[in-house]
Amino acid sequence: MIGEYVVIGLGRFGWAVATTLARQDQSVLAVDTDPAKVQAISVEVAAAVTCDTTDEAAIGELHLERATCVVVAIGVEHKDASILTTALLRQAGVPRIIGRATNDLHGRVLLAVGAHEIVNPEKEMGDRIARRLARPSLIEQIPLGDGADLAELEAPEAFVGRTLVELDVRRRFDASVVAIRRGGKVHSYVLGMGPLEAGDVLVVIGAPAALSRLAALA
Ligand code: ATP
Repeated sequence: MIGEYVVIGLGRFGWAVATTLARQDQSVLAVDTDPAKVQAISVEVAAAVTCDTTDEAAIGELHLERATCVVVAIGVEHKDASILTTALLRQAGVPRIIGRATNDLHGRVLLAVGAHEIVNPEKEMGDRIARRLARPSLIEQIPLGDGADLAELEAPEAFVGRTLVELDVRRRFDASVVAIRRGGKVHSYVLGMGPLEAGDVLVVIGAPAALSRLAALA
């Protein structure tokens, strides 16, 4: 097996996925049509090959069906190639294909031809930055599925000096504080923490609207 993870398309997004996985000690095969990019990344990942993944015979030789996961990171300039590549990977029986969508229609097409998951890095980053601008106290927000998000937010000023029991966050905001980050340490026994201090960061689970209401207090 050449790589547990395969990243096809070494633009900025694919490059970041491949090298970050490699730095986390994951075995990565990086693939691109551009030999210069393949050569440049070869020192950072387990293996790198030049291949046009829309060529059925060429992609067949890589035996990508043995990979745990293939990320099709081909971007906006080559939508047709990302669709064809995804279809060929699915046909080959790759167990997990993550497709990079550049818009909603592209995403739906990738799912229709066989991607198991899609990501849209530009949209996700745009959403994230807009949320950060609109709610500066919201440090991080991760969707957990089923309408719930996990968020890290600075404790609102009005909470400082009061305990979570007094504040009754669960009932008043319909959100649960599951941990508190204070001075670089994460405390998961939140009810035993005593009054909140300025600079505390709350790790909270709740619906996005509930988290937004909490963040608006800051
Ligand atoms: P990014 O935003 O990630 O920088 P981009 O929008 O510039 O990417 P593209 O240039 O379309 O995206 O594609 C990213 C990479 O995918 C390029 O390095 C390109 O050479 C590679 N690529 C395109 N088509 C194929 C293909 N058929 N097989 C393998 N790699 C491909």
